[in-house]
Amino acid sequence: MARRRQLYEGKAKILFEGPEPGTLVQYFKDDATAGNGTKKGIITGKGVLNNRISEYLMLRLAEVGIPNHFVRRLNMREQLIREVEIIPLEIVVRNVAAGSICTRLGIPEGTRLPRSIIEYYYKNDALGDPIVAEEHITAFGWANTMDMDDIVAMTLRTNDFLTGLFLGVGITLVDFKLEFGRLWEGEDMRVVLADEISPDNCRLWDAKTNEKMDKDRFRRDLGRVEEAYQEVAKRLGILPEAGMRDMKGPELMQ
Ligand code: UDP
Repeated sequence: MARRRQLYEGKAKILFEGPEPGTLVQYFKDDATAGNGTKKGIITGKGVLNNRISEYLMLRLAEVGIPNHFVRRLNMREQLIREVEIIPLEIVVRNVAAGSICTRLGIPEGTRLPRSIIEYYYKNDALGDPIVAEEHITAFGWANTMDMDDIVAMTLRTNDFLTGLFLGVGITLVDFKLEFGRLWEGEDMRVVLADEISPDNCRLWDAKTNEKMDKDRFRRDLGRVEEAYQEVAKRLGILPEAGMRDMKGPELMQ
């Protein structure tokens, strides 16, 4: 098959033109970055696992009425998605303090928050994704108040659903980041969940030991990064059919 036209390459994914208008192919790479691109590395098999984990979570979320861009998985590293106009916001939900909220507000890591907190960041690499208030979002027209009502409602439901789902497999959902996009159907527009949900953009801790099972293992050089991603997939019951043997893809023979 002729190679599809590449539309965009991000830090962890590539977007290709899809087979029909209004669709895209999302390709998951093994590349990992942290600190807004200052730390770079490869997590072998991450793309395969995140493709599978994100497929599973998006399908489960669709079942409970949270609309999203996922159509179907195409192969080990690619999934077909609906083309959306990405809203330039990172929506972060926190249940337990970790990462930037600890440094920003001086809260010890691991503190259970009095209630789930939603934060907004303006998606702009050149500016280092600064935290913003809803005032900035509506004043600068990144989203309107109706969009924000939809985004907050979907985000809270996603948090409730995923918290329960992960707890069921012995994992605490500490925090995570969502992105939303506008899906156009003729004249109609609705806001839907987009991007991916995986250990790249969630903090997942073992519910008993609080051991980190997410990208913080890479960010903080904790080791056993690949194993952590595999363990999340294993607990969700979705390790790729072929098992770990096929995670690397073809290897060049010397
Ligand atoms: N996150 C993300 N992409 C970003 C920034 C954060 O996916 O560009 C996720 C991150 O994995 C974590 C949550 O959002 O699950 C909160 O991240 P935080 O603000 O604590 O920033 P970090 O410590 O990751 O820099």
